[in-house]
Amino acid sequence: MCNYCDNKILVWELNGHWLGKCTKRPSMAPCSRCGLAIPLKQLKDHMSNADCLDVSLDEGAATCPLCRQCVQNTDDGWIAHLLGDIQHGYRKSKRRIKAQKWSDTA
Ligand SMILES: [Zn+2]
Ligand SMILES: [Zn+2]
Ligand SMILES: [Zn+2]
Repeated sequence: MCNYCDNKILVWELNGHWLGKCTKRPSMAPCSRCGLAIPLKQLKDHMSNADCLDVSLDEGAATCPLCRQCVQNTDDGWIAHLLGDIQHGYRKSKRRIKAQKWSDTA
């Protein structure tokens, strides 16, 4: 879900959405360290802040736009991250995925 335009956007697509398609966002630029789209006015503060996580040296890594943690930038990596302990609002789908797995093996 995009904070700005209320469209339903997948978490791992939020960053690209903010840098491109979102019509209601403020002016944003990608942070050169963590790769997240940050509002231009906040970019300086952001880079001197602890929530800027430097993943620029790690090709397979991305930063989660919700919790600002380092995530393996693959579908599996994102799903594992989103279904982890941190609250991302994905708890319902966790149950659904589990139920699916059980019915697959039954
Ligand atoms: Zn948007
Ligand atoms: Zn950053
Ligand atoms: Zn996260």
